Amino acid sequence: MAEDRTEDRPPPRGGGATHTGSRGTCPVCASDDVIHLVIGMPALPEDWGSGPVWVEWVGCAHPGYNRRCASCGGTWTASSETTFHSVLEVMAHAHVDTPDDLADWISEEYEHDAWVRVDDHHLEIGFRNRSVTIVYPVREDDLWESLDDLHDELSEELAAERE
Ligand SMILES: [Zn+2]
Repeated sequence: MAEDRTEDRPPPRGGGATHTGSRGTCPVCASDDVIHLVIGMPALPEDWGSGPVWVEWVGCAHPGYNRRCASCGGTWTASSETTFHSVLEVMAHAHVDTPDDLADWISEEYEHDAWVRVDDHHLEIGFRNRSVTIVYPVREDDLWESLDDLHDELSEELAAERE
């Protein structure tokens, strides 16, 4: 018996961190039984756990992928649909109130501590003497990619200095 078929759930509400968009297919086995992982905390507490059954809320611990196939178990990363238009949106996404706390949040992902400088139009994020200026709107995955590149450059520079 399958009385409480979860497909009967209402569609996700718009806005906030609520997940929207198509479910997609598995790049490994082409199944459409794809689980979307929502990374990070929702803007509104009541959004937690919202969305269809194939959306899994995983909190702030990034597992390194955001899609999982329920058929073959494959995992991969799909482009984030989250776009930030201001530092307030970034901080809401990170669930922090100040740029310093945002820096701490970013630092958790990296070996080197990050710092954050904010003005009306830009978000500057740096590691040590290197930084990248983020111009809004910025997609979440582009933001992380910029930070990954910056962090890699710094790590290579430090490794070269040690030789
Ligand atoms: Zn699959």
